[in-house]
Amino acid sequence: LPKRYEGSQPSVWVEYIQLALDYKPLNLGQGFPDYPPPQYVTDALIEVASNRGLHQYTRGFGHPTLVQALSKLYSQLIGREIDPKTEVLTTLGAYEALYASITGHVDEGDEVIIIEPFFDCYEPMVRYAGGVPRFIALKPTNTEASVLSSADFVLDRAELEGLFNSKTKAIILNTPNNPLGKVFNLEELTFIADLCKKHNVLCISDEVYEWMVYEPNKHIRIATLPDMWERTITIGSAGKTFSVTGWKLGWVYGPANLMFNLQMIHQNSVYTGCTPIQEATAIAFEKELRRLGSDECYFVSITKELEPKREFMGKFLQEAGFKPIVPEGGYFMMADWTPLESQVDLNSETDKYKDYRFTKWMTKKVGLQGIPPSAFYGEEHKRLGENFVRYCFIKQDKNLQAAADILQKWK
Ligand code: PMP
Ligand code: GLN
Repeated sequence: LPKRYEGSQPSVWVEYIQLALDYKPLNLGQGFPDYPPPQYVTDALIEVASNRGLHQYTRGFGHPTLVQALSKLYSQLIGREIDPKTEVLTTLGAYEALYASITGHVDEGDEVIIIEPFFDCYEPMVRYAGGVPRFIALKPTNTEASVLSSADFVLDRAELEGLFNSKTKAIILNTPNNPLGKVFNLEELTFIADLCKKHNVLCISDEVYEWMVYEPNKHIRIATLPDMWERTITIGSAGKTFSVTGWKLGWVYGPANLMFNLQMIHQNSVYTGCTPIQEATAIAFEKELRRLGSDECYFVSITKELEPKREFMGKFLQEAGFKPIVPEGGYFMMADWTPLESQVDLNSETDKYKDYRFTKWMTKKVGLQGIPPSAFYGEEHKRLGENFVRYCFIKQDKNLQAAADILQKWK
């Protein structure tokens, strides 16, 4: 590898997706629904596929109907007119959106603040750009309780403030957070926003789980806080929004001067996204725009659909002896597995961190796969993730029941 990429290792996804293929466990690892997306979404793709005019290259910075739909939606949500041509970019998944945002802004030696636990690709992306990640871990409070909430994990304000300095280029925010499910509240976001403004720092806000937020929590877009539009880049994903993770379509919106830098990265690496997928997503958005906020709107019903699954998982994990952290948003649940440590043969695996050994042993011996959360911490803090496992609950009820049965039998 060239020097700037040295030290790169296969990610947890590469390793665990192969592990699932090899051992065929009940897979609550990688985050994707194990049931079909809404019918009107797949119907939109059928309709597009049969339109013979939609199979060639489209506009590089985003298919016209899709950037229109995104601009319509987010203009409403942000409370300002978003220009579809200059303030929206569509990408190959939220991954490319993150890559373009980071590569398009981070220079050699720039510092980027990352809140742990974090979606794992943030760190290598910052390093590839020559940047220096500065980590701050959310701290658990209320630890004696038998069931925790993601709200019990908080930012230490003084510590966060101490990370901002003249080299700080950006902070990456992820709300709702993956893997913890924390939904940052107004007070927390205001504190972050004020530091960004004080130190002239960019906020890269990964909001791919924006529609999966459980009552009484509210998703707040940091771009809507006073004077934050100018310094915020917000990222979304069709994979999460419409439960079509295989479509690998993402988007970004923000002020034109910041978006220009992303456009340059996108233009010279990917140039243009997939036309039929973008058109089908535009059709899906048009439908949701007409019924925004109503009970039938998928952006409302998806949470209703997930709520009982979240509750069921919290219950069965607790009954099996885990100590779950109930998420305020997203579709993952972290749980402390160490009360069960005596039943696990941790020596059968050789990984450095215990959560890797636990999850591998569970996949092979018990037949249930989860993700080791130390993957979501920087090297110095990996031990903070070791006692946990992350399970995904956007799964059919029968498969969640099967997971409960597996754990009951194991126990
Ligand atoms: N950010 C977060 C927080 C994620 O969980 C994911 C995984 N879906 C992504 C970004 C990447 O999304 P996509 O599949 O659209 O590339
Ligand atoms: N975001 C999904 C997860 O956290 C998928 C990750 C991936 O495919 N790299 O499980």
